Amino acid sequence: MTDSCIFCRIAKGEIPAGKVYEDDEIVVFRDIHPAAPVHLLMIPREHIENLMTAGSQHETLLGRMIALAPRLAREQGATDGFRIVINNGPDGGQEVYHLHVHVLGGPRPWKRF
Ligand code: AMP
Ligand code: ZN
Repeated sequence: MTDSCIFCRIAKGEIPAGKVYEDDEIVVFRDIHPAAPVHLLMIPREHIENLMTAGSQHETLLGRMIALAPRLAREQGATDGFRIVINNGPDGGQEVYHLHVHVLGGPRPWKRF
């Protein structure tokens, strides 16, 4: 955890966010600039920068995040499919350096992705 990391602060409840799910390892909230009718961000509570700095010790956690996506997408209104996106590093277009899984769904057209 770093004090300057906005997603760590959301996970700790220090910054408000539209949380839709949380457990001891994972927090899920609505993207503040949604690019689709349903746009969730799934983060680990642990501060991991991205997949390039994740290790084998995170495999179960990463699997849990992916496995949770369909349920939350459906619950939030993405009833006809969804997309998951993970941006990694500068060439991956990553803006926030705390690993996050974008979950995008709902009726098209979408703004981007
Ligand atoms: P990325 O380019 O993958 O790093 O995407 C970062 C995402 O975080 C963008 O889609 C932003 O809209 C979103 N974001 C940034 N700050 C917040 C916030 N405080 N609450 C919710 N979403 C945020
Ligand atoms: Zn963080």
